Amino acid sequence: MDAKYYTVNADTSVTCTLCPHGCTIKNGHVGICGTRRNSNGKLVLTSEGIIASSNLDPIEKKPLYHYHPDSKIFSIGGYGCNLKCKFCQNSEISQCVPTGYSGVRDINPQEIIDKALNLPNNLGIAYTYNEPTVFFEFMLETARRAKEAGLKNVMVTNGYINLAPLSELLGVIDAFNVDLKAFSDDFYRTMTGARLKPVLNTLDAICQAGNHLEIAFLVIPGKNDSPDEAEDMFRWISQTLGKNTVLHINRFYPAYKFNAPPTPVEKLLELYEIATGWLNYVYIGNVRDINQGTNTRCPSCGSTVIKRDGYNTSLVALDSKGYCKICGYGPVAVM
Ligand code: SF4
Repeated sequence: MDAKYYTVNADTSVTCTLCPHGCTIKNGHVGICGTRRNSNGKLVLTSEGIIASSNLDPIEKKPLYHYHPDSKIFSIGGYGCNLKCKFCQNSEISQCVPTGYSGVRDINPQEIIDKALNLPNNLGIAYTYNEPTVFFEFMLETARRAKEAGLKNVMVTNGYINLAPLSELLGVIDAFNVDLKAFSDDFYRTMTGARLKPVLNTLDAICQAGNHLEIAFLVIPGKNDSPDEAEDMFRWISQTLGKNTVLHINRFYPAYKFNAPPTPVEKLLELYEIATGWLNYVYIGNVRDINQGTNTRCPSCGSTVIKRDGYNTSLVALDSKGYCKICGYGPVAVM
């Protein structure tokens, strides 16, 4: 499959315009993500149709807590990523290229649709596990067919994509979970190899388009956990995207090239307290047996409307349209 977003230069190099890296790639070489190759002046995908993993997951695992809660979604992912996070929690698939990897499976978009339609109680398709932006063309084609078949589409992403390709996705992806890894450009540059501003632009564009959006913030000890910086992030989300934007504050575990100990639960609780001063829906993720940051409360009357215990979800006071059954506020969730 040919790449959709690139320009050809006079010297037969090409410039990829899919993500803000804007790699200029010489003939025979690949871009930063490793998934796009210059083949004689054409930019082609190296990992088309290659699936590293697929599962029928609870939607809460994406994580999406306010989009069809207590449903399941067929989740697929491939290889590669356009970021180089030292703390990557998925490096086996995100930081490798397919060649020689024993788990490789080839599949085409229609096979994915057929499989998704045959799974019991399946909401749709989630593009996740590695960064779906690097298989943009494959995702767009699959999502278009899925939409036509009446399935929902979900993208779990680092948000590092240019606005033109993003605007195509906004027409077919129903819900996004976007990582906001820090609120510091210095963190993005040194820990991920990317920049902060394009991610903020992505969040803003999704919000403006009215697609469902939730944000994941992985708290890494000593790197992005300062209360002041975190509060700048929460304030920006509240003032730019709205107080009802859903935020997941997630615990870090040592992975890939970063060996700091797991985020202390006290730190997660501290940031949770600050975030709830700005936002109505804040959760703590990757921690078991915690009393705060698991259930959904109605912002109007304070009643618990969704209870969660791990991935067991109970809609205790939410009606079929996602409104609070106690006071009628809503919608709290998309149903
Ligand atoms: S998608 Fe890949 S090749 Fe294209 S600009 Fe981004 S990192 Fe470079």
